[in-house]
Amino acid sequence: MTSKQLGILCVALMSSAALAQTQQVAPPQQVPPPPPAAPAAPPDTKIETVNVAPGIYVLFGRGGNIGLTVGVDGAAIIDDQFADMVPKIRSAVALLSEKPVKFVINTHLHGDHTGGNDAFGAAGAVIIAQDNVRKRLGTPFVNPSNNQATPARAREALPVVTFADSATLHFNDDDLEFTHLPNAHTETDIVIRFRKANVLHLGDCFTGGFPFIDANSGGTLDGLIKAHETVLATVDDNTKIIRGHGPIGNKAELQAYHDMLVVVRDRVARLVKSGKKQEEVVAARPTKEFEEKYAGGNFNAEQWIGRAYVDQKAAQEKRRKK
Ligand SMILES: [Zn+2]
Repeated sequence: MTSKQLGILCVALMSSAALAQTQQVAPPQQVPPPPPAAPAAPPDTKIETVNVAPGIYVLFGRGGNIGLTVGVDGAAIIDDQFADMVPKIRSAVALLSEKPVKFVINTHLHGDHTGGNDAFGAAGAVIIAQDNVRKRLGTPFVNPSNNQATPARAREALPVVTFADSATLHFNDDDLEFTHLPNAHTETDIVIRFRKANVLHLGDCFTGGFPFIDANSGGTLDGLIKAHETVLATVDDNTKIIRGHGPIGNKAELQAYHDMLVVVRDRVARLVKSGKKQEEVVAARPTKEFEEKYAGGNFNAEQWIGRAYVDQKAAQEKRRKK
């Protein structure tokens, strides 16, 4: 599966999960809700394991890219794709570690990054995430744009260690530093930094195409740009940056992605401020020189400009009210 197709999964997830699940939230006595349903995919999806630093790997499969650390303390993974990928994830980890997965760190709440939580949690892994991941996964959700209901996740799938702004996990002779990136791709995002190995996992705050800003989960374009600035201040030319979807990246690529978003955001903001309607902003093509590189993953240019318009309109209204 290509990185573009992988990117689409993230967007498809909320609606497909809602479709596949019941409209009723189960009372505590009943069977817990199933983990998010994965979009249909060939049954032979393989995990490709790539080494990025001593003891640190990326597992490319179906759903968000998984970070893996193995060593003297055992194994920990960053994100766990979909429930039906768990046996393959376990096999890939078992090739590198005799010990089971001790920690699961979620970069954010989306089901193509947390779908394996149920199984890993039930098997005894400690799930770690930002406070809002637990809050949102533990609460039934109705999508205001299409009224689709998603029940709360099962108890085992919820993070048991959470934090507001930052935390550090001392594991396998490195310091894994977790930092909240507020209201970026969602309101639940963190960056994970292996301080010694100089490796980052940036989740869906960094992908291969125009970004999915999940406004229903507290995401904003301004917050995403700010997130990139926070992260760029901590990296150098040797830093390996694991994207939520797409190939392993670096500082120059993240800088270019950030700079593109600033240019487009500023253009859209100016058009919104001058009273232009959504279709006029789309027609003005504020993304024109970036479309070849970034369109066609999650969104084509028209779709994405439409979303950027809605985002910037909301941002300006919010500023006016203050
Ligand atoms: Zn996501």
